[in-house]
Amino acid sequence: MKGPVLDAVRRGLAPGVVALFDAVLAEAERLDVALYLVGGPVRDLLLGRGLRDLDLIVDPREDMPLAAEGLARAAAPEGAQVVSHDRFGTVRIEAADGALDVATVRRESYARPGALPTVELGTLDDDLRRRDFTVNALAVPISTAARRGRPALIDPEGGRADVGSGVLRIFHAASFHDDPTRALRAARLGERLGFRLSRGSRTALRDAVGAGAFSAVSGDRWRREFEKLFDDARNGLDPAAALRRLAEWHVLGALEPGLGLPSAAIPALRRLGRSLAVPPFPSARLRPWAAGLAVWLAEVDATSRRRTLRRLAVRGELAQRIVEFPRLRDRCLRTLATARGRGAVDALLGGLDDERLLGIYVYAPPAGRRRLLRWALEDRTRRPPVSGADLIAAGLTGPVVGAALARIRLAWLDGAVHTRDEAIALAREIGARLGRRNAKRPRTAAKRVAAEPATVKLKKASLPAPEPSSILPPASPPTRALHPERQ
Ligand code: ATP
Repeated sequence: MKGPVLDAVRRGLAPGVVALFDAVLAEAERLDVALYLVGGPVRDLLLGRGLRDLDLIVDPREDMPLAAEGLARAAAPEGAQVVSHDRFGTVRIEAADGALDVATVRRESYARPGALPTVELGTLDDDLRRRDFTVNALAVPISTAARRGRPALIDPEGGRADVGSGVLRIFHAASFHDDPTRALRAARLGERLGFRLSRGSRTALRDAVGAGAFSAVSGDRWRREFEKLFDDARNGLDPAAALRRLAEWHVLGALEPGLGLPSAAIPALRRLGRSLAVPPFPSARLRPWAAGLAVWLAEVDATSRRRTLRRLAVRGELAQRIVEFPRLRDRCLRTLATARGRGAVDALLGGLDDERLLGIYVYAPPAGRRRLLRWALEDRTRRPPVSGADLIAAGLTGPVVGAALARIRLAWLDGAVHTRDEAIALAREIGARLGRRNAKRPRTAAKRVAAEPATVKLKKASLPAPEPSSILPPASPPTRALHPERQ
């Protein structure tokens, strides 16, 4: 199996990772240590699926207890960093064009259910048996020392047969008690691979739920598993289907009483999954899990939403945004349906982060999605013909500059202002009105003036097919006047 496995491994990986893999293998041969490919990649090779990453483990010789770290340091190319994750020699080699994880074989035990495991050096067998499911307890010896006296596939728990029959099976009845987060792993992996949870494992899960094992796990650990669940959507996982498994297994209710998967959230979560796999608009910074929680919990009642966020240790501004997302979504959907201009859509969506924007997109009906997309793909990055500096140079000062810029942007996106001169004329009009207003309360005055009708005469719109503006009366060529936004 050696040749074809190595070929398949190399075929499935980015060139930078292959180079690191070859360097680690060469070093293992030089030091004559046993190096194995283990876990997910072996399972995926058996299934003929592409590899997402490589998990390598080292079974150290007596004279080199922290083999993974020594190996990684010796193999790392110049300029690469070797980051040590724990004292048991889990290390990551980070090079410019790829990264690779190498670990030393370990044993894990649980002081109490739900606690983080106690870790110590172990054997290859220990390392395989500490894992969540039999299909992940598979190893392929890679180096000569690993192959000596070993079969081509090391499979202590019947993982290969379970891969063949599409089953996730835990090793022992207390597995979900020891680590209830394995339930989320089961939903995620099961959905990703199209595998079902074995009957015995479902019974064990039911027992763990019934025994209250889920309350012993910290919010941070739960949240990290939800992060992985929504991250996997980037590789094609349907988050709605994974959450549905958790709901069927009563895991959601065990996490937070009353929490479920409302049917109204399912189509939006499906669309979110597809949008994470193939983004409909570019996003500079998007946390799939933050968008995922906003979309899912939008259909959960407000009290459960707050409690669930607390349970998952989501705090601060992000928690507040998710709590308030349903109201924002409803307002945006209404405005997207009724807004008469591109400027109004810009004013609505302009201040939103990509996570909420995607959340609104997945809940919007087709026409709303089209409008949101047009804004995200076209209008979002367009810049009007004047900047704040231009307005200051034109004599505007203080808060009126911001108010005028906002008004100019709105009119410009609606096709009512085209040129720099028109924009500056509009700004001056706003400035003049402000001057006539209460000088003692400039901010309030600036806001009010920005929303009032302008009388600057503007040329007929020449932008390609502009929509009628919500701040303009119907076009009356060849000139027209600006009017306040009416919503
Ligand atoms: P893959 O299995 O494809 O690597 P993954 O993204 O779930 O997917 P990780 O979360 O990085 O992988 O886990 C790597 C391996 O570590 C898994 O194959 C699993 O065997 C083991 N593992 C991870 N978390 C647990 C856990 N809570 N209990 C037991 N084993 C675990």
